[in-house]
Amino acid sequence: MADDDTSRMETVMRKQRAAHHQMRPEPMALRKDRIERAIRLLKEHGEDLCKVMSADFGSRSPHQSMITDIAGTVNFGKYCLKNMDKWARAEKRHVQFPLGLLGAKAELRYEPKGVIGILSPWNFPVNLSFGPLMQVFAAGNRAMIKPSEFTEKTSLLTRELIEEYFTEDECAVFTGGPEVAHAFSMLPFDHLVFTGSTATGRKVMEAAAKNLVPVTLELGGKSPVFMGESADFIKAGERIALGKMMNAGQICLAPDYLYVPESRQDDAIHGVWQGTANMYPTLLENEDYASVVTDRHFDRLQDIVADARSKGAEVIEVNPGNEDFSSTNARKMPLTILKNVTDDMKAMQEEIFGPILPVKTYSRIDEAIDYVNEHDRPLGLYYFGQDTGEREKVLTKTISGGVTVNDVIFHVSMDDLPFGGVGPSGMGSYHGVEGFREFSHARSVYTQPKIDVAKLGGFKPPYGPATEKAIKTMMK
Ligand code: NAD
Repeated sequence: MADDDTSRMETVMRKQRAAHHQMRPEPMALRKDRIERAIRLLKEHGEDLCKVMSADFGSRSPHQSMITDIAGTVNFGKYCLKNMDKWARAEKRHVQFPLGLLGAKAELRYEPKGVIGILSPWNFPVNLSFGPLMQVFAAGNRAMIKPSEFTEKTSLLTRELIEEYFTEDECAVFTGGPEVAHAFSMLPFDHLVFTGSTATGRKVMEAAAKNLVPVTLELGGKSPVFMGESADFIKAGERIALGKMMNAGQICLAPDYLYVPESRQDDAIHGVWQGTANMYPTLLENEDYASVVTDRHFDRLQDIVADARSKGAEVIEVNPGNEDFSSTNARKMPLTILKNVTDDMKAMQEEIFGPILPVKTYSRIDEAIDYVNEHDRPLGLYYFGQDTGEREKVLTKTISGGVTVNDVIFHVSMDDLPFGGVGPSGMGSYHGVEGFREFSHARSVYTQPKIDVAKLGGFKPPYGPATEKAIKTMMK
């Protein structure tokens, strides 16, 4: 299938916008029907999608894909169906005294924006296309999706399925590489949701700015884990291992590095080691463990380790089965813990996005807080410990997109909590009522009473004593 060119994208956009105008107000029943179709698509073709995701990655557990990309997204669709009537209700707002008594009315209506672009990455290719789509539909919009070129088979199947379940003026998928992605980001959408790296996010925002297209940017970053003295290091290690090893660390919210008390460094590393070994006694032939997505991404990760080693880091490979990783081209990489890391190492400069875990130590938790505050605001932040004072200190003195306490990543799976970054880790959010509002236009509607309010208020020329009285009252 050929890559999509700009003219096809423009044609579809025109069609979608015309259909949108004609169908206004997009009835709730139609919006729900679209979400139901998206859910049906995922239910009927979930297994096919898991197969192609595995083929795209080289290897990726169908069980994991079923949880992260299919069932999780179906559930999110059901959550939208359950809540969207409430979300869509117009809100009465206050009118200043005495206008209310005179019959004035103010209300806020959440209206569809129109045609929304969805640019998605490869790491959870179904979840990060269909997740936003559920709320784009809930808010009464139409959608154009450009999935990642790195998971090409998944992108092509997504396109085929969307064509089967939706008309082109409801939802359409466009495939292709960075050139198609760039052309896509230049389209005059009514809103654009981008999920991907901070570097590409910058380009997307620049392209969108040409048409003043509002954007939601779901980006990445280095999400730190604060381990307090009071943490249960075995339990924490297990939870960190689960979050770090899932999808081989290729998760935007994966714990990027650990910050541990100096005296507990060995306990913290042992906990992660044990947790990993318990879940993944072997890796090479283990279907539960994903491959790194491409050779290029694999080489980048190897380079991060080599760079750290050459600059003095201690490298600990968690290889419980004592397997030989040098004789395989499966792009499977064991969890690699880095001790004694310094800021001049790539491991501490770029988002890791793979199974590498640097460990830093502190003598006072304030050092860890200062370190995080001196760097880009992260997407996620994690605190392990039972000391509520310390927990609140960490939370109230740092900024991040979201937080999970005593685990990692989980806040994203709470449908009712908005998910998004802050600053370099993103802007805007979806999930929860916030997602519905993100893809809606909050339209203010004011209804004037019959009485001549302008005259009564002294706003009507010729200005005189009534005007002066009004000014005095307002300035009091
Ligand atoms: P990426 O930025 O390389 O690509 C994402 C999308 O952008 C792809 O569809 C790609 O085709 C497109 N693209 C590429 N060049 C473009 C250009 N010049 N203009 C417009 N679009 C362009 O990201 P990736 O490697 O696919 O994904 C990994 C990154 O995504 C990580 O940084 C990760 O943290 C982040 N991520 C964030 C979230 C989140 O929800 N916050 C979720 C998953 C991944």
